[in-house]
Amino acid sequence: MNEEEIKKLKEENERLRQLCAIKSDIISISAHQIRTSLSALKWIIKMFLDGDLGKITFEQENLLRKAYESNDRSINTVNDLLLANKTENVTEKEYIFESVNMVEIIEKSIFDFSGESYNNGIEIIFLKPNEKIQEVKADKEKIRVVFQNLLENAIKYSNYHGKIFIGIRMNEENFIEVSVKDTGIEISEENKSKIFEKFYRTPEAQKKEVVGSGIGLFTVKKIVENHGGKIWFNSEKGSSTTFFFTIPIF
Ligand code: ADP
Repeated sequence: MNEEEIKKLKEENERLRQLCAIKSDIISISAHQIRTSLSALKWIIKMFLDGDLGKITFEQENLLRKAYESNDRSINTVNDLLLANKTENVTEKEYIFESVNMVEIIEKSIFDFSGESYNNGIEIIFLKPNEKIQEVKADKEKIRVVFQNLLENAIKYSNYHGKIFIGIRMNEENFIEVSVKDTGIEISEENKSKIFEKFYRTPEAQKKEVVGSGIGLFTVKKIVENHGGKIWFNSEKGSSTTFFFTIPIF
């Protein structure tokens, strides 16, 4: 390749980078606007439900509750989209790495999701090891997103009265390995390779009455890899799925 061709290639590269940044800004601005409207709607419905605007009938309450839940799911989808958009364009250099206590993140997240798991009749069991787990080198907020996405999926795709087991250990390569195992729907063999693709959802998940966008695992994989870690899963026919990820020790 001669100098002229290299220069052209660089210019083209820069043009594409700028185009990508503009598109990402459009997504971000639109998603924020949609979220603002959805949030306003959420509080209006809540005022009705709380009786702030007068007494409502049982039937009205039923319908309003459905509207409230559906609106909430849309807010979650927009949040997923915003996160994916943000993560996609953030390189490892923009991460703030510090010493992070993964056990603390797990315990706090279990607490945060206790309401959701209770509503779904699911028990979360943290198999906390006796030995001290060393801190990891991580961007705290992003690694929290990783764990919470896996936990949320485990709850969403579990059967009623299911159990979720969370494990943590130091592996042979000086990484912390976290696992989230559930007793829910399987990921069948032919779909395994597509799980981390953006917007992909298995037919089994689509049949279940839960809302998803197929962005979570795509985002989670990017974050884990930007930490120098790995993410993978096992899924047993008809019963359980376990997701694992590793993060280097500080
Ligand atoms: P979604 O918003 O659909 O949950 P994700 O990107 O988090 O999106 O997950 C992608 C797909 O992977 C899900 O739609 C589901 O088909 C499958 N999946 C993720 N976690 C699990 C799990 N714990 N058990 C079974 N299937 C799962």
